[in-house]
Amino acid sequence: DQVNGQQDRLPGVRQVHGAAWAAVWPTPVPSARLLAFDPAVAARLGLEPALLREPGFVQVMGGSALYEGMTPWAANYGGHQFGHWAGQLGDGRALSLGELADAQGQGWEIQLKGAGATPFSRAGDGRAVLRSSLREYLCSLAMAGLGVPTTDALCLLGTGAPVVRDVLYDGHPRPEPGAIVCRVARSFLRFGSLQLPASRGDRALLQSLLDFCIARHYPHLAGNAEPAAALLAEVAVASAELVAHWQRVGFVHGVLNTDNMHLAGLTIDYGPFGWMESFDPLYTPNTSDAGSRYCYAAQPAMVRWNLAALAQALSLLCTDGQALADGLQAYDRHLASCRLRDAGAKLGLPPDAAALQLQRRWEVLMAQAELDMSMAYRALARVRGDNALASTPSLLLASATAAPAALADSQQALSAWLADYRDAIAAQAMEPAQRAAGMNAVNPWLLPRNWLLHRAAQAAGRGDLGPLQRLQQALQQPYQEDPALADLVAICPPGLRQQPGCS
Ligand code: AMP
Ligand code: MG
Ligand code: MG
Repeated sequence: DQVNGQQDRLPGVRQVHGAAWAAVWPTPVPSARLLAFDPAVAARLGLEPALLREPGFVQVMGGSALYEGMTPWAANYGGHQFGHWAGQLGDGRALSLGELADAQGQGWEIQLKGAGATPFSRAGDGRAVLRSSLREYLCSLAMAGLGVPTTDALCLLGTGAPVVRDVLYDGHPRPEPGAIVCRVARSFLRFGSLQLPASRGDRALLQSLLDFCIARHYPHLAGNAEPAAALLAEVAVASAELVAHWQRVGFVHGVLNTDNMHLAGLTIDYGPFGWMESFDPLYTPNTSDAGSRYCYAAQPAMVRWNLAALAQALSLLCTDGQALADGLQAYDRHLASCRLRDAGAKLGLPPDAAALQLQRRWEVLMAQAELDMSMAYRALARVRGDNALASTPSLLLASATAAPAALADSQQALSAWLADYRDAIAAQAMEPAQRAAGMNAVNPWLLPRNWLLHRAAQAAGRGDLGPLQRLQQALQQPYQEDPALADLVAICPPGLRQQPGCS
């Protein structure tokens, strides 16, 4: 198809025009088995835990049955991938079963990821491996515990069908256990959901999707004179909030393409994401992102790039260019205020330029001394303004991931920074305990580190659900120190460093 004079990529893939979705049925799996479910998400949807354990429920989640009234669909959307317009993408391995209403009457979309091919699967098989599904399941849950906006995961199933991915083990592809994760969100609308009809000049479809998005996520915009520009400003603020949270907790999404950007500012599409251990602004968990386009430090700029692409799409419905430009500025403004807020909160200082300046220097030091980001911030909560802790540099260096010999240079620089930090704390005259409590409420203690997820997936593949269950339980209180969980707050053990990517 000709799209704005451009050829859609991948000829031979059915192009779906004039429709936001295509009907599709899940493909049954040989032996669906419930591996885990989140009681909090179930409760929100009014689902009794007993129901989730029923064979009938597991059959539906495994794609071999539908409840009455379910008419599943796969969504159609496009996207910019790594800076290039990729044309139509769509749900290639996700399909929605329908919606459930919560106690307030709000609809929640119930979606299976890994339930088989859809009209948008292109060369893919529509399946997912346990490794990546378990990562999505636990990470969604962890994000909720961390207070980071996210799509939710209701449950995780094993399919009994092996899946082969292009991941090499000792130089060979190897079948891995297959899995399905059931995701839940008010919608799964992405920037790319609006970009695709816009790229085709389909105003009518773009307008319907815009109306739906506003009704669902931004109902206060109903009746707005410039709904497209107003939506952009709201999405910009929600996205600034989201990326600020990611930077705060040390989360790197890995694939910030516009098809992976939720219109309500939720973390969506957990793939080759990673959690910062040794602080490195260039940390890039996605091994196929050779140019580090989506590294930790680049995330705020990449989200803005994506918003500019969204603005371009919305310009089809809004001739007021200034109104759209204002929407993008809302991102810059909100992000700047989040940065002050988070710098202050993470350091236990007032949210001002001085805190931001101290944080910038601290980040350089963390990188130099190779400090584990979350451990180092937790250690800062024990620093006091009155010099009572003479050994603070060693307290911080306890979170170092490098060999002690490499830390000699950092010791001096850390002491100098700590002197300034102590002065800032002293000037504030706050009770040390109160300050520490505030900091520990924004600096996570426990994170779903990559090696923890890897180990849990390996064990689950062997039929041992213990590590998965323990992580699920622990990640609900990620700010709470618990000596019984201390073994989970550690840098990656050497034997687990070189693990396959997790898309
Ligand atoms: P991602 O970068 O993971 O968000 O995926 C980009 C596109 O590839 C989306 O349209 C996905 O639905 C599709 N996709 C990814 N993996 C598969 C798969 N195993 N089978 C079919 N489509 C897939
Ligand atoms: Mg995606
Ligand atoms: Mg993916």
